[in-house]
Amino acid sequence: MASQAARPGAGNSAGGGRLAQFKLVLLGESAVGKSSLVNRFVQGHFSGFQEPIYGYSYKMENAKYCTQTVVLDDTTVEFEIWILYVQERLAPISSMYYRGAQAAIVVYDITNANTFSRAKSWVDELHRRAGSDIVIALAGNKSDLGSRRTVEYEEANAYAEEKGLLFLETSAKNADNVNEIFLAIARKRRPRRT
Ligand code: GDP
Ligand code: MG
Repeated sequence: MASQAARPGAGNSAGGGRLAQFKLVLLGESAVGKSSLVNRFVQGHFSGFQEPIYGYSYKMENAKYCTQTVVLDDTTVEFEIWILYVQERLAPISSMYYRGAQAAIVVYDITNANTFSRAKSWVDELHRRAGSDIVIALAGNKSDLGSRRTVEYEEANAYAEEKGLLFLETSAKNADNVNEIFLAIARKRRPRRT
């Protein structure tokens, strides 16, 4: 299979064939690693000590977005990736934020069971209020901190299967499964061949 993450700036022509564009939102408790995952995916690096906010193509008060493309066979998939700031305080507007989203990554931190509970609430919220065909991926982030794990892989995997979610444990720090989770979404989401 000839899939790869396109380089930033590779533009829309990378696949030569068809182009698919998806709006993707990231949801999850503060500090689970949403910004770090996007930074790893889009820019290919990890910043260990502060919120990485540079490099985004657009910013507004409550959300920011950037774009990145992946190439899957003959299809170039362009993700428009949205992250909310200070989500807890923005619950009332969050449905505006994910309206129209074709995909979501709900992130928790494998070392913090509260963030897993919170992730489950976000999944319920998406099922209630987002479009019924939205593709949802669950990301158990910080897989590099396995020795401090409090959420078992099997528990999260069983939950994801029950809810029909894609599921991977990821590490924005060492890049494990970061491109893979976006590729899995693109694969599930791209238009069927005719
Ligand atoms: P956000 O609030 O969900 O956007 O989380 P951030 O991306 O700002 O990350 C919060 C903290 O967790 C930062 O100190 C990051 O460096 C750290 N972090 C994020 N992802 C990982 C990871 O995969 N592994 C480890 N060890 N730390 C991470
Ligand atoms: Mg952030």
